[in-house]
Amino acid sequence: MSSSRPYTIVCPQCEAEQEVELYDAINVQEAPALRDELMANQLNAVTCPHCGFQYRVDKQLLYHDPERRLMIYWFPGQEGEYRQNRDLFLQTLQAIDSALPDEFDPPTVHLVFTRTELIERIYLLEADLNERVIEYIKYMMYSRNLERLDPRSKAILFNAEDSNDQALCFVTQNLETMQLEEMLEFDRKAYEGLMEMFDQDDQTAQLMELFPGPHISARALLLDSNADATD
Ligand SMILES: [Zn+2]
Repeated sequence: MSSSRPYTIVCPQCEAEQEVELYDAINVQEAPALRDELMANQLNAVTCPHCGFQYRVDKQLLYHDPERRLMIYWFPGQEGEYRQNRDLFLQTLQAIDSALPDEFDPPTVHLVFTRTELIERIYLLEADLNERVIEYIKYMMYSRNLERLDPRSKAILFNAEDSNDQALCFVTQNLETMQLEEMLEFDRKAYEGLMEMFDQDDQTAQLMELFPGPHISARALLLDSNADATD
């Protein structure tokens, strides 16, 4: 079920206080229009009744696609807050888990921290791709091109639109300017090869160790190991 409730917020332009209705959760099977709104950058968009300023409120949101057994939780925050937010998310999940009957098998909840990650993950899972293997491919792309693709300043995003039967497409994003820069391709046969390789128990374990979740991100993994190395 989708759910929304009134929030009192302050317009970032004129600072007028206003009460607006914002979504906490969307079920895109029941309400496909809400998926369209999200993709069009219109979900939780507000027009200030005082000054007419239009803006988007980035807040915690549960994206639910029951047909695909897909749940993604968007927990917006600054990069420095990721670890803390991940821990809060895990605590909440544990609380939900212990409140559920034993026989209930809850779907995996993906955790994302930015709107870009949310949209990317939706496209990825709708294309029946494995998020850990895709992040592993990004991890290789970063590791082989550390000079050019510094995870501190560049994100690699999966590009569903240009991907086809032959190639999976990625695009790099400059995180200072937010501009998309370079197209990268990965042979789909090589992806299938990785899927087969990671299907073996010992390899699955290695992939799980690299990306235990709930936030599965090659860039975050590289930044984390950098941070640990300089601690
Ligand atoms: Zn205003």
